[in-house]
Amino acid sequence: MIAAYQYDPFATLRERMVQSQLRARGIADERVLAAMLRVPRHEFIPERYRDQAYEDHPLPIGEGQTISQPYIVASMLEALELKPEDRVLEIGTGSGYVTALLAELAAEVFSIERHATLAAEARRVLARLGYTNVKVIVGDGTRGFPPCAPYDAITVAAAAPELPEPLLEQLAEGGRMIVPIGPPDAQQLHLIRMQNGRPEITLREPCRFVPLVPNVNETVE
Ligand code: SAH
Repeated sequence: MIAAYQYDPFATLRERMVQSQLRARGIADERVLAAMLRVPRHEFIPERYRDQAYEDHPLPIGEGQTISQPYIVASMLEALELKPEDRVLEIGTGSGYVTALLAELAAEVFSIERHATLAAEARRVLARLGYTNVKVIVGDGTRGFPPCAPYDAITVAAAAPELPEPLLEQLAEGGRMIVPIGPPDAQQLHLIRMQNGRPEITLREPCRFVPLVPNVNETVE
């Protein structure tokens, strides 16, 4: 789904971000680049950090969480090889920025966030921007979201100590999952492709994410 955007004073900064942080570092997927040129990242960032929205680093979004650096977002999206008809599961909605990008690149997005306050704010921004093909769910993403499985793509925005088994079970044949795996201060992005019922794992770049916090006492609503 492509939301219609009005004139945006941040457009020049966004263009610069796409050129210097993404294209220049090897992001080549034109659909990903176009989506990142369109989605107003600053709308997902708290007022006091908004002037840094297009800079080359993560930013605080509340609840001790962060919105990821643009490059790592692009790299993860590129790895997922999304098609317009795909159904996607996102673990860790956070600000909702990646949710919006997924909504531009795929047909349907289910996104799980454990902090109800972040989920509520993300829902509000996504609705205001006109995204209707996303559902933000409060709950524990390590369990995935079985009611709508299987998914053509799964993206995990928080660091897991090991591959969460329920997510693997919810990945469709031919599906792709991108997940940072490793200890709290140094992870590596793992790309998993489900081929003939078996996960094929490719290691990608090192990264650093907030931890995936499992088994919260919330039921998925
Ligand atoms: N892509 C997001 C990044 C958010 S940071 C953005 O662009 O803003 C990762 C998010 O994962 C945080 O909001 C954190 O609360 C959430 N998270 C951590 N563990 C989780 C879990 N078990 N289930 C769901 N969300 C979780």
